Amino acid sequence: CGIVGYIGEADAKEILLKGLEKLEYRGYDSAGIAIRNEEGVTVFKEKGRIADLREAVNEDITAKIGIGHTRWATHGVPNRLNAHPHQSASGRFTLVHNGVIENYHLLQKTYLKGIPMQSDTDTEVIVQLIELFVKEGFSTADAFRKTLTLLHGSYALALLDVEAADTIFVAKNKSPLLVGVGEGFNVVASDAMAMLQVTDQYIELHDKEVVIVHKASVEITKLDGSIVERGPYTAELDM
Ligand code: GLU
Repeated sequence: CGIVGYIGEADAKEILLKGLEKLEYRGYDSAGIAIRNEEGVTVFKEKGRIADLREAVNEDITAKIGIGHTRWATHGVPNRLNAHPHQSASGRFTLVHNGVIENYHLLQKTYLKGIPMQSDTDTEVIVQLIELFVKEGFSTADAFRKTLTLLHGSYALALLDVEAADTIFVAKNKSPLLVGVGEGFNVVASDAMAMLQVTDQYIELHDKEVVIVHKASVEITKLDGSIVERGPYTAELDM
């Protein structure tokens, strides 16, 4: 399983698909991408190989921002519905997740009664919680932070918000995730190898940091919102 993200000026879908192909060695049963342009967010996902996903992607839609995922199912059978990305009830938020949320059932019963679930995954609870807290008045970054404080388990997460056109929100806990830094673009990847074709500069993330990725900046914050300074290292391909 694995995660990729891209924000810049190039064709996001091609960079995401290539990145997912590089992550194939990690194993997966389904794959998906979400890309974002002036029209909004478009999700493509399929059970099976990246080649099947490629077939399903509409070549005519171009976008400069997107997130991608390969899934190793833990909650919910491998099928198209349970494949990531997952979206909130209104469609405003789009999320990919690697890992396991151990208390997802309790969170759903406590906070999300009455919100119809579209999948059988533990993941969907995360994106529905973010939307719930935004509806209660939190900013997206704060809703994301509040959600992280409620989650028990492991996660690497990348989130798109329709209302924040130029941002990918990122966080991790006990699952690998890196932000790659480029000139005029930035990327997200479970493994630097996925994105080495576009940059070899990577920033290590610590558990429960919320990272706000724009095409020309990367802001690392703690759960209390305070800013963390951390520069990139040069990743080398060892084979
Ligand atoms: N637990 C999530 C699911 O089953 C994510 C699995 C993964 O790491 O790919 O959908």
